Amino acid sequence: MLYRILLCRKCGQPCASQEGSKTFTCAYCGSRNEASRSVRIFEHLDSKDVPAVLAKLKSARASKHASTKTD
Ligand SMILES: [Zn+2]
Repeated sequence: MLYRILLCRKCGQPCASQEGSKTFTCAYCGSRNEASRSVRIFEHLDSKDVPAVLAKLKSARASKHASTKTD
């Protein structure tokens, strides 16, 4: 089963969704998104790689936030 990472249209958080599914529900805000209308960050991900990619995206956002804070 392959997954992709899509951005929630409401809160902008990255969400994992199965490839082929037309909609996904955001794990952060619970809103339902149409996959075809959402920004795709990654595609063709193996399910075992999904947690690592999500963690990487979160840490990238966190470090970006931290660097603007220290300035
Ligand atoms: Zn959301």
